[in-house]
Amino acid sequence: MRTQGQLVERLKSSGVVKHADVERAMRECDRKHYVDSGIPAAYAYQDSPLPIGYHETISAPHMHATCLELLRDHLTEGARVLDVGSGSGYLAAAMGMMVGDTGKVVGIEKHPELVEKSIANVRKDHPKLLEDGVVELCAGNVLGDALDREEPFDAIHVGAAASKLPDVLVKKLAPGGRMVIPVGSQWDYQVMQCIDKDEGGQVHKHDLMYVRYVPLTEPGEVW
Ligand code: SAH
Repeated sequence: MRTQGQLVERLKSSGVVKHADVERAMRECDRKHYVDSGIPAAYAYQDSPLPIGYHETISAPHMHATCLELLRDHLTEGARVLDVGSGSGYLAAAMGMMVGDTGKVVGIEKHPELVEKSIANVRKDHPKLLEDGVVELCAGNVLGDALDREEPFDAIHVGAAASKLPDVLVKKLAPGGRMVIPVGSQWDYQVMQCIDKDEGGQVHKHDLMYVRYVPLTEPGEVW
């Protein structure tokens, strides 16, 4: 595949991309801007994870698409969204396209250098998302104090695997909100869980599929 359009067509024909809003967001965010400059352009459009530096990876496009589909009912105009482990910035930008001018996507990433890179990536692809404050990418550890001053979110995407469901993230989910998070041992496969908080604040969990993610690390923990 040589273009973002071809990549998205493939994800559509395999049934991973199902809805027009997800398709549009993924077409509009060109993966070539989010992979390392040293990687040949053609690799950007393969459906596999790629290195982005600091031993981290940009997730495979089918995982980005799967998470956008799972969260899409909550990625509506004006929604408040958290992207944990925003890495390359790809998913934060795609979610930014979905929540529109009145929405907000906060990306939190533990490597400050990656945050700088991700800001540069989004600036190449969609500078307006940053200028309008729709997408904000910050350095911090979500298991530390990074979320202390944040208001609850309507949608939370977690791009790294937690050994168990972190209370701090459940607390930051707004009533009516949804979180998708891989949970399980970092040495094994994990289960992608869908966490829905109802209007009364009750939390409902269900398991979706087996996945393999890098670990969500505690402050000071080295991966
Ligand atoms: N969705 C991103 C995934 C990046 S990989 C993308 O496709 O580009 C997961 C990221 O989570 C890594 O960059 C890692 O540094 C970050 N991470 C891991 N634990 C974290 C934590 N506790 N707080 C914030 N970021 C974390």
